[in-house]
Amino acid sequence: MCVLRGYYLLYTPHVAKADLWKISGHLDFYKENMYHQMKIKEELYQLRPMNCPYHILVYKRKLHSYWDFPIRVAELGTVYRYELSGSLHGLFRVRGFTQDDAHIFCLDDQIKDEIRGVLDLTEEILLQFGFGKYEVNLSTRPEKAVGGDDIWEKTTFALKDALDDKGWSYQVDEGGGAFYGPKIDLKIEDALGRKWQCSTIQVDFNLLQRFDITYVDSNSKKKRPIMIHRAVLGSLERFFGVLIEHYAGDFPLWLCPIQARVLPVTDTQVDSMNRPGILLEVVQILTDLDLTITKAYISSDGGGWFMDGSRTQGLHQRWLEELARKECERLQRAQR
Ligand SMILES: [Zn+2]
Repeated sequence: MCVLRGYYLLYTPHVAKADLWKISGHLDFYKENMYHQMKIKEELYQLRPMNCPYHILVYKRKLHSYWDFPIRVAELGTVYRYELSGSLHGLFRVRGFTQDDAHIFCLDDQIKDEIRGVLDLTEEILLQFGFGKYEVNLSTRPEKAVGGDDIWEKTTFALKDALDDKGWSYQVDEGGGAFYGPKIDLKIEDALGRKWQCSTIQVDFNLLQRFDITYVDSNSKKKRPIMIHRAVLGSLERFFGVLIEHYAGDFPLWLCPIQARVLPVTDTQVDSMNRPGILLEVVQILTDLDLTITKAYISSDGGGWFMDGSRTQGLHQRWLEELARKECERLQRAQR
């Protein structure tokens, strides 16, 4: 989906020399969340708490011109944060997790379209998982901030404009933005109406300066582009936690770890049930029955597709009957 939307997919290292985290400011302002450094051949290395600096280095590998933009880079990036042991909580808070992270570098007049693109992508992905209700927050400039008034104003307006264009209602959290830029946060609502922080889109004026990110404009002058951080699902581990809560473990078929399991009713079926290709036959039966897979629920407790007696018993029963009928036909044919 990211490739379709013009992102370059990256895979960057999990450790970097400590210098990188000095430049990014993480060693000065984020150290308590970071693991201890490792010394390798007299050099200090650091497990990464964020992916951003790597994506910036990828940007900086060459000189950019105004016609290069927008540049979108994405990564399923695993990061490591030293959370206090008391704050760890199942899949919701772990010390190593993978973000569906991306950074967009663009020009001032491209911000709105880029944000709009991220909103569309976010909706497309979240709908796949059954999340259609969102609480959206736009956070504006706090008292202490980097970047001039005009760029804050221009960017915040572009974020509002994109949200209005999308037609989403949102609340404005005046002064609630990060010191480095305005942001949009999105909470999803699960089956029980509980809200979970999920997607985030943040403009960043700080890292641009720290890494001295520039491009050459149409007058051959060096300028700073705009940088946007964005994550749709956020931490994948946490998102899976939310999914388990949302579906109460009863996942849609396409998401279920065990999608189908064939169980013999009596000992006499054991041989035929163990033969190769039986699962393919089950899939064929499901297809013949014209069951829309996203609507077909299945027990995820390992009980299998016809063992669960809960809300979709009727469906499971139909599959079982169909399988039994086909199996009888097959045995009859074999006996002839
Ligand atoms: Zn980032």
